[in-house]
Amino acid sequence: MSEPSPTTGFLDWCRNIWLAVKTVADALSVTLGLMLGTYRRKTYTEAFEYPERPVEVKPRYRGFHRFDLTTCIGCDKCAAACPVDCIYIDKEKSPVGKGFRVTGFSIDYTKCMFCALCVEPCPVECIFMGSNFDLSCYTRDGCIVDFAKLPVTVAWGQASLNPTVVAASKAITEPVWVKGEETPVDRLLAVR
Ligand code: SF4
Ligand code: SF4
Repeated sequence: MSEPSPTTGFLDWCRNIWLAVKTVADALSVTLGLMLGTYRRKTYTEAFEYPERPVEVKPRYRGFHRFDLTTCIGCDKCAAACPVDCIYIDKEKSPVGKGFRVTGFSIDYTKCMFCALCVEPCPVECIFMGSNFDLSCYTRDGCIVDFAKLPVTVAWGQASLNPTVVAASKAITEPVWVKGEETPVDRLLAVR
């Protein structure tokens, strides 16, 4: 076997040095780019204006529920499916038509784990996982939300379950709508 010439050995040595320097420079350029990026980006509040404008979430995000009182038939299937028993439904025999009128539909968010198992069995599709991710409250009682006492636009809409609206619902004893009455949607359509 012939020995490599001194010139070839020197060229290989130079190539290896160049490769090592280039690899280190490439890696440092990535680090440097990220480091300078932190100075260029806006602050969190500038980018999201939270809480005035909620942070966007993915379409399949499982946030606080949306519930439509005017469609619920009080069948208890959601409560039966809940693994932690945190849905409490109050209902009475409806004096008009068949079935029940729902007078209370509370979810205890100190127990709820946002698994969405309550959504699947609903036969009338009146409960969904919403896109709200925050529920600020000052007491544990504030985490128990009675959707039958919230304005329908908040319970079924995407508005924030803020402490003010939840606290106001605690002072309401009657459901915001009962079977037999015009629904809030009918009322809106009648005004137009
Ligand atoms: S999301 Fe899960 S834990 Fe929460 S109320 Fe529904 S079934 Fe119960
Ligand atoms: S499963 Fe649907 S219809 Fe039945 S009580 Fe729950 S929310 Fe109402």
